[in-house]
Amino acid sequence: MAKMKEIIEPPVYWHSSVEQVNEDISKVKKGKVHTLLPSAGKRPIYMVEYGEKTIPPSKASLSSALGAQDYRCYADKTGDNYVPTVFLAGCMHGGEFEGTVALMNLISLLETGEDLAGKRNDEVLELANKLHILILPMCNPDGRSHVPFDNFVGHTFHDLRYYGQGTWKDGTLCGWPGCKTIHPIKDYCEFLGGYFNDDGVNMMHDDYLVDPSNEVRNVIKTARDYAPDFTILFHGGGNTLNTYFHVSYINQDARNEIYEVGQLAKEAMAKENLIFEFLDKRFRESGGEDVGLPPFMLTSAVFNVCGEPCVTFESNQGLTECDDPYCLTNDEIYRSHFIYMEVLFDWVLKNKNAEKQREKLKKLSY
Ligand SMILES: [Zn+2]
Repeated sequence: MAKMKEIIEPPVYWHSSVEQVNEDISKVKKGKVHTLLPSAGKRPIYMVEYGEKTIPPSKASLSSALGAQDYRCYADKTGDNYVPTVFLAGCMHGGEFEGTVALMNLISLLETGEDLAGKRNDEVLELANKLHILILPMCNPDGRSHVPFDNFVGHTFHDLRYYGQGTWKDGTLCGWPGCKTIHPIKDYCEFLGGYFNDDGVNMMHDDYLVDPSNEVRNVIKTARDYAPDFTILFHGGGNTLNTYFHVSYINQDARNEIYEVGQLAKEAMAKENLIFEFLDKRFRESGGEDVGLPPFMLTSAVFNVCGEPCVTFESNQGLTECDDPYCLTNDEIYRSHFIYMEVLFDWVLKNKNAEKQREKLKKLSY
């Protein structure tokens, strides 16, 4: 799959800029548009909802409900009219907009029956129409505005590091994971990369329990208010294989569910010669085993307010001039996301419906 590519104009469906996302959302008619808290740089942030919440008002926080040994005090999903909820969030890191492209096309599909290239995808549409879906396509518009182009395909690894994590005051690349040594990073940067909002906050490592950024509050409050059955945070990781990042501080049920969906996605992608590969459940982001004190990240925070799986889907970004030979085209990146979403929607409908929720409560596994 190794290819050398020139920097190319992205395909017509590749809507990834702040302006384009806002314009597309302004045209939404079938979905309900929620205006969330603005970014640190005062940019608007929108979420689009399809379907309706079917759980009764919450009586307790998740913590209190679990203290009472009854999840239903937080979210009662056992009613016969229960419709499972999926929460999809893109562009936590501003240079990682592959998920945003997929989500804008999902919105188009739900609005018009066609994606932004005018193509139908009746399989995904049929599944999506049976779900309650929350789409937050651009969580970090500040970070996105730090990246002056709409497409990483054909760009270099140096571009990824420069525009992704930015530079220190002496002009050297902050890099990964060096960019995580200071948080918030703003006052230490010459160029503030796409990872960060205008205050220099990396959403994946915010101060969740004390004073989180608006961008993080939007994600956590949505998870708390809607109790989504599955949450995906879409990221891009250079020329990584399409993959999952391990999530710490969750229970074994959620971990099993994340990997069950991942295994199905892997099989579905393999049928189209695409790769979705992930580390064994024991390993964390850096590859080491999940022992000691792994980072409590946004995925962990979402789980701990709603008790349901949340995972990072890390996409290949189609870079060139990289040692890693795995380098996808725009179409392959786009297709990978839709294969994953189709598998996810199907799995959630089969495994998170009211009947399954009642079975799960009987087990009292948490
Ligand atoms: Zn990321």
